[in-house]
Amino acid sequence: MELWVDGLAGAEHGVRTIQAIRPRLHQWSVRKYGSLTFRITQVLSGHGCFGRYLCRIGREETASCHGCGAEEDTAQHTLEVCTAWSNERRTLVTEIGGDLSLPSVIDAMLGIFLFVLNKKVGWIAKSLTMEQKRIKDVEKMNKEN
Ligand SMILES: [Zn+2]
Repeated sequence: MELWVDGLAGAEHGVRTIQAIRPRLHQWSVRKYGSLTFRITQVLSGHGCFGRYLCRIGREETASCHGCGAEEDTAQHTLEVCTAWSNERRTLVTEIGGDLSLPSVIDAMLGIFLFVLNKKVGWIAKSLTMEQKRIKDVEKMNKEN
């Protein structure tokens, strides 16, 4: 693993993705959740329906954004800025917070399992508390009668 991490240090391509994942590579490689979908891979790699990428590979004449008209459309533009994705962004911010930098998004992907687990544990604890209260209320009513 260390060899892999060291080898990525001097990478010339995919720098945005590597800089975000490299510090978390071990955690990323052993995660048992957070599978990569087609769209998540596009956002992580920047290789997808983004003006800059499409222009680079000769599929578009300019790097501009078809969604909002910005001069340069990138995965990060879509994540953080593009007005065409405001509703989706609002949902994402509700789930993972306002930092939509790639390292932060990856941290959120790595933390989703813990988040869900904490939510479930919290729900179970609340349910147990409510059940204990219900039992005490029944006991109290039985004593009064
Ligand atoms: Zn845009």
